[in-house]
Amino acid sequence: MALRLFVATTNAGKLADFREAAEEYQIAIDPVPGLRTIPAPHEHGETFEQNAITKAVYYSGFAPSELVIADDSGLEVDALDGAPGVRSARFAADSGLTDSPDANDNTDVWNNIVLLQKLDGVPMTRRTARYRCVLAAARDGEVILTSEGTVEGLILEAPHGTGGFGYDPLFYLPDLDQTMADLDINVKFAISHRGLAFADLLPRLTF
Ligand code: IMP
Repeated sequence: MALRLFVATTNAGKLADFREAAEEYQIAIDPVPGLRTIPAPHEHGETFEQNAITKAVYYSGFAPSELVIADDSGLEVDALDGAPGVRSARFAADSGLTDSPDANDNTDVWNNIVLLQKLDGVPMTRRTARYRCVLAAARDGEVILTSEGTVEGLILEAPHGTGGFGYDPLFYLPDLDQTMADLDINVKFAISHRGLAFADLLPRLTF
């Protein structure tokens, strides 16, 4: 694989998703070198796009001349007026249940508990939601392109499935009669918000 893209994430679930999709295009995906030792930028944006651009521009400064992509993504639940949205990773932390999204390995579990609590008593017909992902590509501190993908679903009343990450065990896809956590990774990426955003971005990138 001669082409390489650096991704500004240490999230194993996201990295696996990107690698799966990029393989088809013969593109190698690696985390930005030394990512874990680089202080994270503040994500103060009110939109996924602002945060994705902030991260891509910032991290591209640590990989001179290389293409760096960053994603910002999350879950929007209609009955919660679009929450958790850009706060998806910090949903439980915002409710005071954990110190921070990285405070422990159980963040996803806590986030799902908070989501179920907030939707307690809401009937399935009103549990509509979507995952949204914005990708930004940058090189040497300049944003080059952005793309977006969404996937619609329903929030179940109990988790199902063992794959994926984050809210996947609660995110039900009516057309497939499966949750995101039930899907093989290649199927997930073909239909997911991140997969759709990636498929839109890749052909437009100039390496
Ligand atoms: P980010 O790292 O700031 O983009 O936070 C994204 C958060 O949204 C993750 O920590 C998950 O809680 C949630 N999320 C985004 N994409 C997915 C997905 O594909 N599956 C499950 N949860 C997701």
